[in-house]
Amino acid sequence: MPDYDVIVIGAGLGGLSTAALCARHGFRTLVIEQSDIVGGCCSTFEADGYRFDVGASIVEVTRPLDALFELMGRSRADYMDLIPCDPIYSFITEDGRRFSYPTDIDACTEVIRRVAPGDVRGWESFCDTGLAMMEEMMDTVMLSPMNRFGEAMRVVLENPRVLKFAPTFLRSHQGVVRSFYRDPVMLQSVAFQSYFAGAPPELGSGVFGYIALSEHLGIYYPRGGMIAIPEGILAAGREHGLEVRTGTKVEKVLVENGTAGGVLLEDESVVTATIVVSNLNAQVTYLKLVGPERLPRWAVRGIASYENSMPCPMVYVGLDRAPELEAHHTVVTSSLESMNDVWNNYYKLDLIPDTAMSLVCWPTEADPTLAPEGKHILNFLCNAPAPYAPLGDNWDRLKPWYREQAIRELEKYVLPDVRDHIEYLQVSTPLDFERRLLHPRGGIYGLFSDMTSLAMFRPRSRSKVVKNLYLTGSSTHLGGGVPTTIASGIITSRYVIQDHG
Ligand SMILES: Cc1cc2nc3c(=O)[nH]c(=O)nc-3n(C[C@H](O)[C@H](O)[C@H](O)COP(=O)(O)OP(=O)(O)OC[C@H]3O[C@@H](n4cnc5c(N)ncnc54)[C@H](O)[C@@H]3O)c2cc1C
Repeated sequence: MPDYDVIVIGAGLGGLSTAALCARHGFRTLVIEQSDIVGGCCSTFEADGYRFDVGASIVEVTRPLDALFELMGRSRADYMDLIPCDPIYSFITEDGRRFSYPTDIDACTEVIRRVAPGDVRGWESFCDTGLAMMEEMMDTVMLSPMNRFGEAMRVVLENPRVLKFAPTFLRSHQGVVRSFYRDPVMLQSVAFQSYFAGAPPELGSGVFGYIALSEHLGIYYPRGGMIAIPEGILAAGREHGLEVRTGTKVEKVLVENGTAGGVLLEDESVVTATIVVSNLNAQVTYLKLVGPERLPRWAVRGIASYENSMPCPMVYVGLDRAPELEAHHTVVTSSLESMNDVWNNYYKLDLIPDTAMSLVCWPTEADPTLAPEGKHILNFLCNAPAPYAPLGDNWDRLKPWYREQAIRELEKYVLPDVRDHIEYLQVSTPLDFERRLLHPRGGIYGLFSDMTSLAMFRPRSRSKVVKNLYLTGSSTHLGGGVPTTIASGIITSRYVIQDHG
């Protein structure tokens, strides 16, 4: 008899969500995580008395998280406290204008009337279309298996009203926002979100064009830091018998006669299981853990053809006073055209942009307990995106230079004398991300996600080439993001339960 029914490799949100639901179904389930803490990109670490988030800084669209707890027979509110963040963003535009978007849609309309009066009607029509679309898609497209064309068709047949929104899937992010807006400032405020899915506005899917609206349903910060989300999922899973081993790296998925049967660990011990679920980048799962020698040649070619998602350096800052900010998130934007230009003429050419989008996150505004009394933290994404291998250089050498760049940006936008108030500053480069989370090339959202790599065009949640192997997380359907990877966990657990329940 195998040691477990299900082994899940990786305690990211996709892995933990799949594992918790498998445990809830009665499967003896073990999660194996190489790091000492759970959560992967959605986690929190401590340094010098400050608590910093590794990557994700906010939850938008809580429906998948609530659905996960409902499926476990629990209430999400009993496991984590989500603090609403209002305003959603404070913007600093290229020409130095500053304004904030409140959560309330009517109040936001008044802000738009001031900053982009010609686009108020466009905004109202964007809200009408987007709210109707979200209502149709939240529990259907977002939580349904889509490995195959037939499954996607079934979702449409069962929910024919989603057909009305099909053109959105065929358009780019910029195609969608340009169909509503003309004003350059308005466009800036709704275009940068394409980078939240890892692509510039001209390549990102039109569906993500509506992130700028979904944020008005509420954005939340978990009390205690982003790690409260994976820890809450784990706590609920543990009540159903879920086990987790941290600090344990999986080296290989054991495959015999085309069927997964367990894992080989770094210390060369073996843990057997009927089902193996991988929360890792799909290329790592197939090309390293399974091994190309165990796969048909077409499958090796197929999986190798995917591009990794973009990396993004992060700067963690501890301050001895409050920053001069207005919101949990402050976005330093640029024109929609330059958002595309940074991708095509810098990132793709392995150049670091000298000026691009920056996102300053101020978690102690929502939860002061993350820093010693009276002190504050900032998580800073500075001039994103940046290449993994800068031309003729490397990130270990560039780190001091990048640190200085970041401080200059903070002086410009956050606090003129910020240098006198920095108590802690750490830069996490793409190389550091790769070392910390074993993400190839420091990619922050698994595999690249654009209009052509959604649903059945992403690696399947149920492997087609290795029996009893399943995938979850940002490489699979829905791509990177807190709600999307939790949704991927729900979807993967459905396949596992359907096949083995
Ligand atoms: C800088 C940054 C900012 C972000 N901001 C946001 C945001 O504000 N809002 C939002 O919604 N999303 C955001 N995201 C995206 C979101 O955090 C991720 O898409 C999501 O958390 C990824 O979940 P996942 O299931 O793919 O697992 P991952 O987080 O990728 O976790 C995979 C886990 O597998 C482990 N692992 C790797 N190799 C092995 C091995 N061999 N053996 C055992 N374990 C292994 C890793 O240590 C890791 O814990 C951000 C991401 C980053 C990096």
